[in-house]
Amino acid sequence: MSTSRHRVVVIGSGFGALFATKRLRRADVDVTIVARTTHHLFQPLLYQVATGILSEGEIAPATREVLRRQRNATVLLGEVVHIDLAARTVTSVSVLGDTVTPYDSLIVSAGSTQSYFGKDHFAEHAPGLKSIDDALELRGRIFGAFELAELSNDPALVDRLLTFAVIGAGPTGVEMAGQIAELARRALPGDFRSIDPRTARIVLVDGADAVLGSFGDKLSAKAEAHLKALGIEVQLGAMVVDVDATGLIVQDHDGRRRRIEAVTKVWAAGVAASPLGAQLAEQSGAHTDRAGRVEVQPDLTLPGHPDVFVIGDMALLGLPGVAQVAIQSGRHAADTIARRQRGDRPQPAFKYRDKGNMATISRFQAVAAIGEHIRLAGFLAWLMWLAVHLVYIIGFKNRLTTLLHWTVSFLGRGRAERTATQQQVAARMALVRLGRPGPLGADQVIRESAERSLATGAQ
Ligand SMILES: Cc1cc2nc3c(=O)[nH]c(=O)nc-3n(C[C@H](O)[C@H](O)[C@H](O)COP(=O)(O)OP(=O)(O)OC[C@H]3O[C@@H](n4cnc5c(N)ncnc54)[C@H](O)[C@@H]3O)c2cc1C
Repeated sequence: MSTSRHRVVVIGSGFGALFATKRLRRADVDVTIVARTTHHLFQPLLYQVATGILSEGEIAPATREVLRRQRNATVLLGEVVHIDLAARTVTSVSVLGDTVTPYDSLIVSAGSTQSYFGKDHFAEHAPGLKSIDDALELRGRIFGAFELAELSNDPALVDRLLTFAVIGAGPTGVEMAGQIAELARRALPGDFRSIDPRTARIVLVDGADAVLGSFGDKLSAKAEAHLKALGIEVQLGAMVVDVDATGLIVQDHDGRRRRIEAVTKVWAAGVAASPLGAQLAEQSGAHTDRAGRVEVQPDLTLPGHPDVFVIGDMALLGLPGVAQVAIQSGRHAADTIARRQRGDRPQPAFKYRDKGNMATISRFQAVAAIGEHIRLAGFLAWLMWLAVHLVYIIGFKNRLTTLLHWTVSFLGRGRAERTATQQQVAARMALVRLGRPGPLGADQVIRESAERSLATGAQ
């Protein structure tokens, strides 16, 4: 690759990063993606991996395969640990050590992580849903709970095992609760001999007073009614104050605390921007909000750094953390870089085109808020949801197999992807316990163990 061309470095391989990179395919630049996973992840369908509808490959194609035909794009594996705005370099780590990548323009799209609002110890018992690892761990925990219930002769333990608590009633929590209910009531009955999966209790807990609050009162009420019709207990105004191996404690509005016995907990209650945002803020003096999103100029650049763009979930734009914001902001940043290269006039400030918000509740049931006025609930909204998601899934093969799996699960009763391994359930905490606390957590342990085996192999 020529080094004389303008070098664009893109951090991440999510929606913002991928769409920015693709937009630069005809620009006179060299693009290097530095990402800590080898795949692009379609996060909106993670809950379907967790509940056995889809396989991980369908929603996480290899980034380098997606970009195979884009000759000006290079993909590098590595976790970015440092951005040096003065030296214009990005430092990433892998098992082979540090890689320093210089840039002329930088697009930072490292997304967001699960937030436990300062109570990180909740993570041990209530995994979130942000990555393929999370989804596969949850799959193992959910299907595993039914298996253990089948084994047990202790009625209290069976109840605890067959109680599933989902914390957070935004789109992810609603989708997870809806799918666990469908799993218990439609997919699993008949598979067990001593338990009846239909008796499973699914509890959806949120400290706010509404489910899907961002969809407005009408859709929120419809979604709540539908969740209740599915047999889900919706507990609103209930703040989770503690989580342990066998349950959680919630505090109601009146201050009273009560315990919910539930072995399986899913955390879908909060997000925080990537810690790289804090680094950018510290070096540039930019402001960050409570969720760690970074203030940007109207053209999405970091104040005082016209060569650095912050996009998607990391940017403080007064917009929701959704895929369309990442896609559109990624394309805008790419267009600005391409225009500068061509010597064209700067393009106008970034303007978001709201294409609407959707969430599924169960098969055939969804809600959609489009623009100021259109509010849909039910089958039509679900069909729209289906079509939009199929369009954005990357790759024809993945679209085809997803359609097949949806037919199996939504028209039939089956779940094609029930396989879970012990590693999926145990590995995250085993790695955390093995490792010393550090900014990289489990990744650091993986790196160190790989370094050890490389060293042994080299002898
Ligand atoms: C479970 C779930 C369901 C969702 N459902 C919907 C939905 O239905 N509709 C919708 O519009 N939006 C939905 N979203 C939100 C949507 O997925 C995000 O808004 C969108 O992915 C943001 O794009 P991004 O590029 O900013 O970040 P991401 O897509 O999160 O990408 C961040 C990338 O950066 C990488 N990365 C992070 N840190 C580093 C580092 N230090 N070094 C290198 N790489 C790094 C990550 O591995 C990832 O590749 C959902 C999100 C989740 C978690």
